[in-house]
Amino acid sequence: MPAFQLEGVTKEFKGKLVLDIPELVIEHGCIYGIVGPSGAGKSTLLRLLNLLEIPSTGRIFFNGISTDTNTKSRLNLRRSMTMVFQKPVLFATSVLDNVTYGLTARGISKSTARREAFYALEKVGLKEFTQRNARSLSGGEAQRVALARAVVLKPKVLLLDEPTSNLDPANVAIIEKIARDLNRERGTTVMMVTHNIFQAKRLAGEIIFMYQGRAAESGPVEKIFQNPDDNRTRAFLNGEM
Ligand code: ADP
Ligand code: MG
Repeated sequence: MPAFQLEGVTKEFKGKLVLDIPELVIEHGCIYGIVGPSGAGKSTLLRLLNLLEIPSTGRIFFNGISTDTNTKSRLNLRRSMTMVFQKPVLFATSVLDNVTYGLTARGISKSTARREAFYALEKVGLKEFTQRNARSLSGGEAQRVALARAVVLKPKVLLLDEPTSNLDPANVAIIEKIARDLNRERGTTVMMVTHNIFQAKRLAGEIIFMYQGRAAESGPVEKIFQNPDDNRTRAFLNGEM
């Protein structure tokens, strides 16, 4: 069973078609790099998968279940995925509170939540930071807290929308390592939008090249980088768009 199947999915904003994906399958356990020019629809695709947006037409299946379903099922689907954005949005409370919040909101006891949060913060190299106010962190530290907050929920799918765009190389490396470890150790499906094709090459097993709202080309990373079928993919990878 694939993680996601898209069938005839379109998304319009005010009558403008921004996404048009007749068919796309996302397999469990893979790392996908989603690349393409600005405005190609990459963020919109992730937001649709995460149920932050509703398709204008078509259907999205998650684990074979249509996401076009009642509120309770949507909540369950949503709990299988977490998303990290380019700009971390943290509460102005302690780092620890930021990470435990999602767990206690799911009814997990405070003590278990704290234990899990400490473990997640250790993974991102911030276990000394638990009592710091999240607003006092550097950009890289804040993004690592955002990632800890996402992974502590043990998602089946981790959606990353340009999570390292604003970060220095050391923080980029930490975030890439966490994504890779999660995929290897837990089989987490990772979908990462990135404008950095080298990052996509380092991390992803599969590439989806988006162009003008379409998944113009997709396939294994070696194939896409060495021998793309689509001239637009080639042009993009050569830095010509
Ligand atoms: P990417 O992430 O590839 O840069 P986006 O998915 O953010 O592209 O955007 C694709 C297109 O949809 C762009 O033209 C953008 O302006 C438009 N768009 C995205 N979200 C909205 C919105 N909420 N309202 C209107 N237009 C939007
Ligand atoms: Mg975007």
